[in-house]
Amino acid sequence: MEAEVLEKYRKAGKILSKVREMARSRIDVGVPLLEIAEFVERTTRELGGEPAFPCNISRDRVAAHDTPAPGDESVFGEEMVKLDIGVHVDGYIADSAVTVDLGGHPDLVDASQAALAAALELVTPGINTAELGAAIDDAIKGYGYNSVANLTGHGLDRYLAHGPPVIPNKVVTRGVKIKAGEVIAIEPFATDGVGRISEAPHTEIYSFITKRPVRSKPARALLKDVEENYRDLPFARRWLTGDRKDYALGQLVKARVLHGYPLLWEAEGALVSQTEHTVLVLEDGCEVTTR
Ligand code: MN
Ligand code: MN
Repeated sequence: MEAEVLEKYRKAGKILSKVREMARSRIDVGVPLLEIAEFVERTTRELGGEPAFPCNISRDRVAAHDTPAPGDESVFGEEMVKLDIGVHVDGYIADSAVTVDLGGHPDLVDASQAALAAALELVTPGINTAELGAAIDDAIKGYGYNSVANLTGHGLDRYLAHGPPVIPNKVVTRGVKIKAGEVIAIEPFATDGVGRISEAPHTEIYSFITKRPVRSKPARALLKDVEENYRDLPFARRWLTGDRKDYALGQLVKARVLHGYPLLWEAEGALVSQTEHTVLVLEDGCEVTTR
């Protein structure tokens, strides 16, 4: 990996860990979610980075893809809070998540933390991703919980928040070998539910696919906004300006100009924890950028 690129990955990681630790300490019962999300995104910029995706704040049964709505007034309750942050420097991304337990289930948090630690111990050029999946699954089972099978870690590349290779969170029959020079995010999810998430009927995060002709005026205005500001990486509904945004979003999703990421959730009543770090896989040793 070129020295310049390496430095950008490291800088993104450093910014992320600072922002994450400051935000984590602010999360408490009664604090507005929007305040935390805006703090994360503002502080990322103040420290010289850019959000690689909207600050994800997912609670209890929701595993991922939630972020405050425009004008969101909700506050944290006694919940299992996942804070998942993305930072990039010139397109080079750091991706990391922590779980803040406000509901009295510390061992569920420990389970995803231990699983990540087990996987990080093993990461080295040439390791098969199946071994990582098995280590994660084992660690979580050791706490008496289930690993969420259909959520995975992933590769990172310039302006690409989710690329190959897939890093499974479960035993898989055939993985792939991790190569030196790859950047990967490892993110175990532990749950007291069944270990399988599905899509909830709500979407706050979108990304641009490609430009196609659209007729309605609000859709054309939104497309212009997206093309100017969010061509490369995912964006939040609350970041958008202009009239009839929800109508326009619907039109652009239907026209396959935008991709929506619905909230992902476990069974009703279940809780989910998540822990994530980004790792540079290097010939002479692996480096966690988001520690
Ligand atoms: Mn993440
Ligand atoms: Mn990730």
